[in-house]
Amino acid sequence: MSDFDEARERMVERQIVRRGVRDPQVLAAMRRVPRDAFVAPDWRPFAYDDAPLPIGGGQSISQPFIVAKMLEAAELHAGDRVLDIGTGSGYAAAIAAQIAAQVDSIERDAELVEAARERLQRLGYANVAVYLGDGTAGLEEHAPYDAIVAAAGAPHVPRALRSQLACGGRLVMPVGREPDRQRLVKIVRVTEQSYEEHAFADVRFVPLVGGDGWPERGTSGGRWAR
Ligand code: SAH
Repeated sequence: MSDFDEARERMVERQIVRRGVRDPQVLAAMRRVPRDAFVAPDWRPFAYDDAPLPIGGGQSISQPFIVAKMLEAAELHAGDRVLDIGTGSGYAAAIAAQIAAQVDSIERDAELVEAARERLQRLGYANVAVYLGDGTAGLEEHAPYDAIVAAAGAPHVPRALRSQLACGGRLVMPVGREPDRQRLVKIVRVTEQSYEEHAFADVRFVPLVGGDGWPERGTSGGRWAR
């Protein structure tokens, strides 16, 4: 085992299992995906820390626990089609891609899109497609999705995302009236017309900037609020 493999195992046990994440598929995926390959070389020694890390452009790779918590809430199954909003480094997309059949991921920053595409290809994630665009509009041409997750916080759940959920589909995202403080919200589309919704945690994500999100303006985040 390399030092990174040991650090990753420790990360899963101490930060994720100990805090109550139980979904065996999420835990297995977190054990496999090398977070060290998703951060810049200077940050590699800290790749398995219990924190978000900078990835350039004022953005960050989310805290590992939060990725696990959100994907567990999204109840991913083999065969699912997943929409991931805010590709960033591509780490959360890679975790989801270990479990689901296909992950479509949208990022608004062109440099992050290029870097994530290159990284995911190099690491062999053939079932992730990265799109440049505004995730608040979702991806109408590839909908419906069994699960939608967003790693950036919006003032409300964008209308397009609700409508792009399949019946039985789950949406998990941070929502809050302040750009950098949110509650994690889970929405289940029960039938064509009805949705169930509840909030389950306090979090701090970067703002979801777009047509049905926040106007341009920067902060830092992607962290479990304590
Ligand atoms: N899931 C990422 C975390 C990325 S942080 C990871 O695992 O590394 C959130 C990302 O959302 C940032 O890269 C930011 O540029 C992006 N973002 C913000 N608003 C967006 C929007 N409307 N559409 C797509 N991406 C957006």
